[in-house]
This record gives sequence, structure tokens and C-alpha cells, in this order.
Amino acid sequence: MKEARATNSRIAGWTLSYDGFDPAQEGLREALCSLGNGRFATRGAAPESRADGVHYPGTYAAGCFNRLTSEVGGRAVEDESLVNLPNWRCLTFRIDGGEWFDLDAVELVDYSQVLDMQRAVLVRLLRFRDGEDRESTLTQRSFVSMATPQLAALETTISSLNWTGRLTVRSALDGRVTNSGVTRYRELAGRHLTQAQTRVVDDDTIMLEAETCQSRIRIAEAARTRLHQEGRRTPAQTRTASEPGEIALELDFDLAPDEEITVEKIVALYTSREPAISEPGRDSCRMIASAPGFDALLAEHARRWGELWDLCTLEMRDHLASSPAVMRLHTFHLLQTVSEHTIEVDAGVPARGLTGEAYRGHIFWDALFIFPFLNLRLPEVTRALMRYRYRRLNEARRAARAEGYDGAMFPWQSGASGEELTPAVHLNPRSGRWVPDNSRRQRHINVEIAYNVWLYHQATEDDEFLAFYGAEMFIEVSRFWASIAEYDRSIDRYEIRGVVGPDEYHDAYPDAEGPGVDNNAYTNVMAAWVLWRAPRILDSLPGQRREELTRLLGLRREELEHWDEISRRMLVPFHDGVISQFQGYESLRELDWDSYRERYDNIQRLDRILEAEGDTVNRYKASKQADVLMLFYLLSAEELRELFDRLGYPFDVESIPRTVEYYAARTSHGSTLSKVVHAWVLARADREGSWKLFQDAMESDIADVQGGTTAEGVHLGAMAGTVDLLQRGYTGLETRDDVLWLAPALPAGLKELRFTLRYRRHWGLDVRVTPDRVSVTAPPSDEAPIDIGLAGEVVELRAGESVERAL
Ligand code: BGC
Repeated sequence: MKEARATNSRIAGWTLSYDGFDPAQEGLREALCSLGNGRFATRGAAPESRADGVHYPGTYAAGCFNRLTSEVGGRAVEDESLVNLPNWRCLTFRIDGGEWFDLDAVELVDYSQVLDMQRAVLVRLLRFRDGEDRESTLTQRSFVSMATPQLAALETTISSLNWTGRLTVRSALDGRVTNSGVTRYRELAGRHLTQAQTRVVDDDTIMLEAETCQSRIRIAEAARTRLHQEGRRTPAQTRTASEPGEIALELDFDLAPDEEITVEKIVALYTSREPAISEPGRDSCRMIASAPGFDALLAEHARRWGELWDLCTLEMRDHLASSPAVMRLHTFHLLQTVSEHTIEVDAGVPARGLTGEAYRGHIFWDALFIFPFLNLRLPEVTRALMRYRYRRLNEARRAARAEGYDGAMFPWQSGASGEELTPAVHLNPRSGRWVPDNSRRQRHINVEIAYNVWLYHQATEDDEFLAFYGAEMFIEVSRFWASIAEYDRSIDRYEIRGVVGPDEYHDAYPDAEGPGVDNNAYTNVMAAWVLWRAPRILDSLPGQRREELTRLLGLRREELEHWDEISRRMLVPFHDGVISQFQGYESLRELDWDSYRERYDNIQRLDRILEAEGDTVNRYKASKQADVLMLFYLLSAEELRELFDRLGYPFDVESIPRTVEYYAARTSHGSTLSKVVHAWVLARADREGSWKLFQDAMESDIADVQGGTTAEGVHLGAMAGTVDLLQRGYTGLETRDDVLWLAPALPAGLKELRFTLRYRRHWGLDVRVTPDRVSVTAPPSDEAPIDIGLAGEVVELRAGESVERAL
């Protein structure tokens, strides 16, 4: 008999903790308690659990994709997904040959789970009574090593409180898993693994190998399970049990009241995409043979996390004790998805981290919200993630050519090879209908890539990256923008037609046959920005490389002149004194927001609501997320003014708050990215409003504001975006023209911010901001001084010294 108590969750200090077991919340907990190291990650599912509607064990390795064909509405569709790898956490037990432990079958006396973010360890504590009145406690600790990226560990301690009997522990590797973590994809094929083979390696080690059926990635897991009592290794009677796709080691041990036994399971996970290996099976066995025990592994893992936290610390003080902890959780998930261990593999940054199967593990434009944090902390990770794009440059060139464009056109959704992965149809769970998905027309992904090349270089001065990779991508993307822009003689302007902007609600004009809208302002202005910046990128290359690249790419002077012209004559639509989201936006209807708010609990996904009502959101002035406002997010007011001047449009800074207000009233925040941007753009004009939005954005995952989506994977863009709002948004931090600028404007609720940065060659710059002071301290070193811009004035900061200003 299960005693299901309401979830009581708490986040404070360095921990996220839960009291009680709540089946309805279990998926959310699993995602939030995922453990990873940038190479692979595992959801915090209970070790004894299987995918059963409540639990969903999932393990995902960076860049490990596979394609499957399904039938949808009588049509064959091919999808590529991040593969759920064999479950390495499986561990259960029974007493005297009875039933295997089942949460549903026992009475829970105590149940708690604690995620320790400082050491990246998940702890689970249970006290329970079974049907025969036997009372036991169970303590489990697990981690995915940040020190040795192929290792993970689970330690289980079971104690008898009142019984004597034979305890059998079953430690397994389960290759029968499928991708079935997202309800609305369940009609799609999900069996990615084939050829699961199992093997007993030695007395305490078992292994499982499998292969993805299409991409032929081989996966091997080797698990060593040992018993310890009173700190010493204890012999046990062991046997192996295997069924197709699964192998288990069963260990028997006699237990009496007040006795306890500790089971240590150490697992090595390799895929054939791992660098520096012979073959996953062989390497996983070799790794496990030399792996130390749980405590030693934990010590090196925790030490590595300590170093990471030193680099990535960001402390804040507001009225809530939980806020600093939420910021830590966000940083924690970011570092578990992309870390130093990602550098050595070919992988991008998936929108939902490695914590679930939503969006099939694909890579979108979310790096726009993620790289700014990494640039100032772990820039080598940004560099590696941008090389993920670089390796797919030829694919992007092919995609551009196939559509009749020049240069490179990167896909909206990317995975293994850089082919476009956006599905052609998606399911509206409200109506049960599969509807066309035109979101692939978000050509603005090609802004993200160029913008990030630019921003990364501004922050790091990494000239080698720019010369060898960044500039080539920037130029090829510029070429794409120049070729998609069409000249309209009658208005003497360039136009970009048939696209979808960041607001995915508007993917076509009402009643139009074809997809896309024309002249999405964000796309047009940012395309102009790219074409404006391209010559500066070229100019900043060493002369010889510039010539080489010009030759290599066949770049002609007339092309550059053409780019210059487009960057001066791109069309930007306006209406009612604001920038229009796209041409024709003004003729859309106003939505009766109040009536929708009254009729539905949650109107974030208006697209689904309206489609289910037989209507379409395309008819209304209603946006899913920030679109025009993205311009104010990415570009400073000065830069925008310069750009609009160049384009020959009036732009006064006063129009910014008006534009923000206009779109704020017409946005449903159906993407968690939206409030991050809205908070950012209000940071100066409406500090209170901004702070409120920031707090909402902070809740995105911890409170699962979209009502169920976090269980399918955390929203990494919003997580990183909120941290970056503190780091750059409220401090006015910019890396521009070789100066690190700070112009803080803290919202009233924010009392203090303190963080360390890596800027140029200075590691550990200490930045402190209070409502009335800002200071930067450079740690002692031999490095050359840097320029810091404080309150509009540039001052030199030498190693070992501080600069400070009153605000
Ligand atoms: C948003 C996109 C985002 C994607 C992945 C969508 O809901 O509209 O902007 O890139 O989620 O996070």
C-alpha cells in the first residue's frame, strides 16, 4: 500500500530537495535531478524503476542520434532523435526470494530526495515497511563523473530495522529501452537500439553492447557491482541472469536487524563516437577494470565540480532565499550539458539539454541565450560548440544551393549531419490533429550563428578561431542573406519573403496558400547587421589569411559592395509608430485576450488552442515569444540607432519602451525564452516590470510553468538566459571594441550581484555590483592591463588591482 504524500520541494543554498513521493511530479523531478558531465547525462529516475508512465529512466550521450521511419496519417516520415541509451542505473532488491522492491507495494514511512548541486550528487533516502511488516531503510547516492567523463556511479545502502533474512540485490544493464518519454511522439517509432548483446566479464562485472539501428553507433556499458560492509569489501554469492537485451548480476547476502549492506555499482559508458578509443566494448571493460571505488571517484568528481563552481560562480541577493539556489540549478544544468568534456566530441547544444526527449534532442538557435554565459567562463566550450556548426558548413552550403541561394543556410533544427530536421508535421495534443509545421522557415538561425561568432570574438579575441572557422561561416552566411534578399525597384528596398520569425505562431498569412511571412523585422534588420559587419570581420583577419579566404571562397569585390548596399536598403516595416513584426501585421485582428484567459487556465500555447477551435493564430496579433524585441535584446540602443540611420529609417530611443509595451500586450510567452527577452529589454525602462518577468523566467523549470514540459527535458536556453540576465542584462556588461563595459541598473529587488569572469587573459575577474557601487578586481598575475568602461569612462585595470565607481 502506497502512501503518496504531496510533493514538498524546496530549493535553497546548494540543494534541491523533495519530501514525499508524488507520482504526478516524478517526471519533473527526474528531469531536474538529471546528472551529467557534458558527455552523457542520466535522468534522476529511481534505480528500481522502468518506463511505466510515472518513471522514465533516460540516458543520453552528446551527439548520439539515430533515424527511424514512422507512419503518420498514412505517410512515412523519417525522424532523427537523440537516442535513449541502455539504462545503467537499474538496481533493485528483494528479501527471502519475495517480490522485487516496488514503491507501489510498500508503505513509505519516509521518503526524500536531495540534489546536492555543489558536488553534483543525487541522494535518495527511504524508510519503508513491506507487507510482512519488515522495516528497512534505503539510501542511494549517485553521480555522473565530471572528472572521468565515461564513468558513473550508484551506491545503495540497505539496512534491516527488524528482520532477519536473505537479501538479494539485482544490479542490471537494460538495453530494452526505447524513446518513449514524450507522450505526443508516442505514435512515432521509438526503438533505436538493436543487437543488444550481453556478457559476463568477471565475477563482479557484466556488460551490455548495443547499436543504433541506422547511424550504427555502438554503445557499450560495463558495470562492476560489489558489496561492502562496515567499510570493507564483503564476498557475496553471485550469479548472473540475462534475458534478451538485459543482463543482471544478482548478489545474495544475509542481513539481521540493525545490520546494513552497501552495494557499489560503477559503470563505464562508451559509444563509438568517443575519441581515443579502440572499440567501445573493449574500452569500457578496460576502464571499469581500473576504476577506483565509489568514494575515490566521488572525491575527484566533487573536486572537479568545485573548480567549475569557482569559475562559474554568480552570487545574488534579493528578497528570496531561493533565488541564488535557482541560479545555481540553472548553471548546474548548463554545465552538465556542455562542459570541458563536450569539447572532445562532435556535438552541439540541444535545446533541452541531455535531460529528456522533447524536440528529439535537436539543436536550435538557443545558443543565442547560452553562449554569452560560456564566453565569459568557459570560452573553449563555446569554441567547440561553434565548431559543431563549422563541420556542418558544407551541408549548409548544399541546403542553400538546393533552395536556389548562395552561401550557407543552416537548418532550423540540427542533429547529426546538419541536415534540416524540422518535422513536416507536428501533433496538436489538444485537437489530436497532425498539422503542417512550417517552422523550418526560421532562416534567422543564420543570424544566431553569425552573431555568436562576432560576440565570441569580442569577448575572447580568439583570432585563430576567427581566422580558421568563424570568418568563413560569417561570410557564407552573409552570402546567404545577400542572395535571399530580393530587390524591389518600385520601393528601392531589399526584401526577405516567405520566412518565419522567432514567433512561431505566424508561419503564414491567414488564408494564404503558401507558408511564411514577408519582411520579418527581426530577420531583416539582423540580416542587414550581418552584412554590415562582414567587411569588419574580413578586415580583422591577418592579411595573408584574408587573401587566402577571399580566394578560397571566390569572394569578389562586387559582392562586398552589394552587401554594403543591402545593409543600407533592407526593408523594415512599421505601423502605429512601432516596428511591425512583419509586413501586413497591422491588418491582423486583435485577439480578445481577456476572453481567452477566462476560458482557459493557461493560454501560453494559443496556437494549439486556436487550432483546436478550428481557428488559427495566424489571424491574430498574438505572438508566442519575443520577436521584434529580439532586436533590443541583441543590439544596444546605440548600435540600433547607427544601423537604422544607415538603413535610412528614423529611430529614436524613445520608441523602444513604446514598442516593448506594444508587443508585451500581444505575447503569450509560449516559449520559456520569451520572458528572458522581455525582462532584458525592460531592464532599463521599467526596472520593476523587468524584475517581475525575471522572476517568472526563473520559475520556468523549477515550477514547470508550461505544465508538464520540463519532465520532457529542461529548457536550457531559459536557464542560461536568466543567469545571463544577471551577468550582462542588469549590469550592462558588454565586450565591445576591446573594452569591458559595465553600466549597472539593478532592479529594486536586487540588492547585490557578485561574479567572476574570464576576460581575455585574466582568469577570475571579480565583479561586484550594488545599487550604488560597481567594482572590478583583477587577480594578481603577469597579464597586461585591460580597459574597463565604468559609467561611460574607460579606465585601465592592472592585474592585482581594483577599479570602483559610485553609481
Ligand atoms: C521556441 C524556439 C526554441 C525552441 C527550442 C520553441 O518552443 O519557439 O524559439 O528555439 O523551442 O527551445
